[in-house]
Amino acid sequence: MSPQSLAGLIEETGDPRFAYDCMRRLIQMFGKVVLDVNSELFEDAIDRVKRRLNLSSDTEIPADALSALADEFRAIVRRESGMDFPDDPLQQLRMAIEAVFRSWNNQRAIRYRRQNNIPDDLGTAVNIQSMVYGNLGDNCATGVCFTRNPNTGERGLFGEYLPNAQGEDVVAGVRTPKPVREMGDDPALSDAYTQLLAIAERLERHYRDMQDLEFTIQHHELFMLQTRNGKRTGGAAVKIAVDLASESMISHREAVSRVEPAQLDQLLHPTIDPSARVQVLATGLPASPGAATGKVVFDPDEAQRRGQAGEPVILVRIETSPEDFHGMVAAQGVLTARGGMTSHAAVVARGMGKPCVSGCTALQIDYGKGEVHVAEFTFRVGDFITIDGATGNVLLGKVPTVEPTVGGDLATLMGWADSERRLKVRANADTPQDAIAAREFGAQGIGLCRTEHMFFQGNRIDAMRAMILATSLEEREQALAEIEPLQREDFLGIFRAMDGYPVTIRTLDPPLHEFLPNTEEEQADLAAKLSIPVQTVRDKVNALHEANPMLGFRGCRLGIQYPEITRMQARAIIQAAIAAAKEGVRVEPEIMIPLVSTVEELKRQRALIAETIEAMFVEAGARVPYTVGTMIELPRAALIADEIAEQADFFSFGTNDLTQTTFGLSRDDAGRFLPLYVDRGILPADPFQVLDQEGVGKLVAMGTQLGRQTKPGLKVGICGEHGGEPSSVAFCERIGLDYVSCSPFRVPIARLAAAQAVIAAGENDK
Ligand code: PEP
Ligand code: MG
Repeated sequence: MSPQSLAGLIEETGDPRFAYDCMRRLIQMFGKVVLDVNSELFEDAIDRVKRRLNLSSDTEIPADALSALADEFRAIVRRESGMDFPDDPLQQLRMAIEAVFRSWNNQRAIRYRRQNNIPDDLGTAVNIQSMVYGNLGDNCATGVCFTRNPNTGERGLFGEYLPNAQGEDVVAGVRTPKPVREMGDDPALSDAYTQLLAIAERLERHYRDMQDLEFTIQHHELFMLQTRNGKRTGGAAVKIAVDLASESMISHREAVSRVEPAQLDQLLHPTIDPSARVQVLATGLPASPGAATGKVVFDPDEAQRRGQAGEPVILVRIETSPEDFHGMVAAQGVLTARGGMTSHAAVVARGMGKPCVSGCTALQIDYGKGEVHVAEFTFRVGDFITIDGATGNVLLGKVPTVEPTVGGDLATLMGWADSERRLKVRANADTPQDAIAAREFGAQGIGLCRTEHMFFQGNRIDAMRAMILATSLEEREQALAEIEPLQREDFLGIFRAMDGYPVTIRTLDPPLHEFLPNTEEEQADLAAKLSIPVQTVRDKVNALHEANPMLGFRGCRLGIQYPEITRMQARAIIQAAIAAAKEGVRVEPEIMIPLVSTVEELKRQRALIAETIEAMFVEAGARVPYTVGTMIELPRAALIADEIAEQADFFSFGTNDLTQTTFGLSRDDAGRFLPLYVDRGILPADPFQVLDQEGVGKLVAMGTQLGRQTKPGLKVGICGEHGGEPSSVAFCERIGLDYVSCSPFRVPIARLAAAQAVIAAGENDK
């Protein structure tokens, strides 16, 4: 548009106000999109005019003020971009086209393509269209709508429109738009609305998916500007997929492919109310999904006290350890300053289905003062804070959350997914309650029961500590004798919950120092409880101190040094299995040895277990079937998997440790710099969240192949956190694993991802 065409427009329309409005809009949009001028400068100028003239809407700005505004916009463009707004229409067009091509390579566009799997080398084209005007009076309008509700999935047009306006006014929020359905009640727009309904339905049938539409009405006449598949929430995605299949628009198989597995998280956990105004204070790792609001508490005992009194609390720790478990149970959510996606806080919170943000390095926690500093704020015990475990955001104050609504549609979709998938999906569960939850989510067994987690509850940890502090075999066996019935009871509960399904129980894994108290005060408490000198506790803590505990005295190394621990656990497992079998429960215990790196380790632990169990069968006068297998979680084990398979009835890849040891990256500390690696593109994703298929995955594929070379048909699964991550699940499908195992809340995600992997493979074969 040039000054000449502006004059022409005034003459043609006889409406100078409209012409000046077009002029200022053109300079504003051109400045923003083509010349990269900060759009707030224009908006501020409009606001100033409205204030000066005491107007409530931009539609009331008179022609002369719009003309002055256009001049002011020209000045802004000149000042900000260093060039005059070009009045030559052909130059405007040329520059606009170049801007579209340029935008294809900006960071936002690249991110958008990555997120939507759009290839970079896809050709770009620019469409040039003549304008239609929604701002030519009251029989004009513009709007944006969806063919179904993108929040709930409900059928029917959903969206908004603005009479006498242009498209960007709806998006910019300069006036409050009206619900699109009200267009039907406006005599000046109702005909166009009827037509819009028919077109919406037609477009949906054509694209066989919910559409996101933009339209303009110019003097009663409807123009469609654009249509595309609409973005939607997890709940809406499920409902729309199931409804489209019921309406025979798509097949069941297509419905299964239509839902992003990760979106199911939104259906299973509370989320931040999308209408809430939030202030993000900092961002950590999205360690366990769900949103939680509560009072800041640093001390796990206080969290327990307040939690039991019905107060919502967020447990804020530098990092967590087994001693904090009771505080985590009582809290609505957990926030840590240190620790990655497989840190204690992350793993335990995920297991409990509790929101957790870990590794939020912006937090400065001072336990002594009972304060945490973040951004420019200081929070003291009792101050409200909110965490969003799906994004890793830490939010200021109390933020409303919405509860998930799991309806019948999810069950329907899951049923369709189950009929497609080959991979079995098990759960990582450590307690009978978790096992029951896992079954409800559709788990087909337990792939990892971390027996040490059983000792984090109540006063059980004391028996464990007594065992660690024992100075003789006799004392240790005495302490173990106290633990044995507790383990047995838990195993029994788990077997009952998993009737007819396999249960993989892992022998003790973590380094022993994790069970001992760190502070002087707690050490004194423990000494008093056990009636031993506090120095004994201190000495033991010092003796167990390791520079690299994750590479230290843990896993099967414990059972090799203290065979009585392995014996006790084998007894507890088999006694529980025999008791369950007597009740008519079909048991399938699988005993799993962790952190094996040599054949000899497995051979010895296996022999010990077999001997203990045989003795028990004789004692009990009953037998149950059982197997003994190993975790493959060290590169050496993957490299000699053919030899290890001779001693193993099954393999389970512990990809948390395998990632840690393959990369030489500490799973507890890497959170400090991994985000930077991902940001700079050195790594495509955090390898503790998304399996590194190139490196760690190669070891998994090779270990599987070597193992099956020795034992064709060897049962192989994965139980690291990757077992619930969609792209990793697809990888497990491709390399022919038998099952994936993940935290109970991720079981539906894994079921869907496993089905989609089969469907995708079928499509590739075509
Ligand atoms: C693993 O290492 O992948 C695993 C499942 O064991 P943990 O996380 O308990 O070390
Ligand atoms: Mg491990």
